[in-house]
Amino acid sequence: MQNTISALAQEAQDLAAGRVIPILPVSTETAAEGEVARALQICNACRYCEGFCAVFPAMTRRLEFGKADVHYLANLCHNCGACLHACQYAPPHEFAINIPKAMAEVRGQTYADYAWPPALGRLYQRNGLTLSLALAAGLSLFLVLAVALQGGLGRLWGADLGANFYNLFPHNLLVGIFAPVFLFVVLALAMGVRRFWKDVKPATGGVDVGTPAAAEAAHDVLRLKYLDGGHGEGCHNEDDAYTLSRRRFHHLTFYGFMLCFAATALATVYHYVFGWAAPYEFPSLPKLLGAVGGTSLMLGTAGLWRLNRRRHPLHGDARQKPMDLGFIALLFLVAASGMALWLGRGTPALALLLCLHLGAVIALFATLPYGKFAHGVFRTASLLRHNTEKRQPSPIGLGAD
Ligand code: SF4
Ligand code: SF4
Repeated sequence: MQNTISALAQEAQDLAAGRVIPILPVSTETAAEGEVARALQICNACRYCEGFCAVFPAMTRRLEFGKADVHYLANLCHNCGACLHACQYAPPHEFAINIPKAMAEVRGQTYADYAWPPALGRLYQRNGLTLSLALAAGLSLFLVLAVALQGGLGRLWGADLGANFYNLFPHNLLVGIFAPVFLFVVLALAMGVRRFWKDVKPATGGVDVGTPAAAEAAHDVLRLKYLDGGHGEGCHNEDDAYTLSRRRFHHLTFYGFMLCFAATALATVYHYVFGWAAPYEFPSLPKLLGAVGGTSLMLGTAGLWRLNRRRHPLHGDARQKPMDLGFIALLFLVAASGMALWLGRGTPALALLLCLHLGAVIALFATLPYGKFAHGVFRTASLLRHNTEKRQPSPIGLGAD
């Protein structure tokens, strides 16, 4: 330990004097993990970015970066870009430090590596914009054909359904389709994050999460604390200017999604507990939650799409962009088709709109465990470990926290 601390001090002196520092060998396996470990060795000697986010205080508790440390820190990173724009060793410097990009590459790899069942991990590479939209279109078409075969074209356009969707797709049929898909999504994500947790827990102190740590992690997640740049002015998107747009559009998307989910859950309670059949109109609570949530989701995803298209090319892993855009597009499609369905009630287009909306919802849920949605789950797990770890004494007797 003493030798490692001396080596670290020597590196800091070399850096201060502008000399190239030797990079310690690391016990990681992939090129992406090796690059994070290499960059963090330099950051650990520099420490200029200590106040930006949770990654740097967590880094200072380590002198070496093994595979589990790298996986943990990569998922703790919120890709805010602050440490790229602040870094004196960023490209074109010969050290070529680009923490946001290196972390993003490892993050993408961890989603696939920890996926459950493992054989489906490769879906992350294929889960792009085209596939997402094609899946939604294919499922919608399937439903359209099913309705047409059952009741002819007259059932698809202009049939007198009132505003009751169950006249077209019976309630039990919808439950039979969505319940297994939803349960599989929960199981796949839970198993994936369990595998991640098993690797990362020993590398982050090994103790169980306590109530204060869980409360602080929940606060960090719900406020998206680490998209504020450490000073509250926000993070970066297309250049080195600070912006709160990414945080706000994330909030609109996240809370919009949660409100829509709450509307669906509440409607289920109405149906099974009180025997109140859908559709629910204003001012019922499911309708209020759904209308506010749908609007928020549309605004949030439209904003995130625009930001993503303008994002600085050095911020992330360009190979993951199709996956990001596919997820954003499906969320938008679900919200927009849901709103159209509500506005189109009582019109001849109701059946077609319902097929489109259900197709989009099934496509979204089918791709949830193998797409961008995973970043929220893995990042929450990392924040839980971070808030637990930082309450323990530093294992090296040094550190910023
Ligand atoms: S990103 Fe650059 S400036 Fe920030 S701690 Fe690392 S080496 Fe230092
Ligand atoms: S990109 Fe932002 S969140 Fe990620 S390590 Fe750098 S400063 Fe921290």
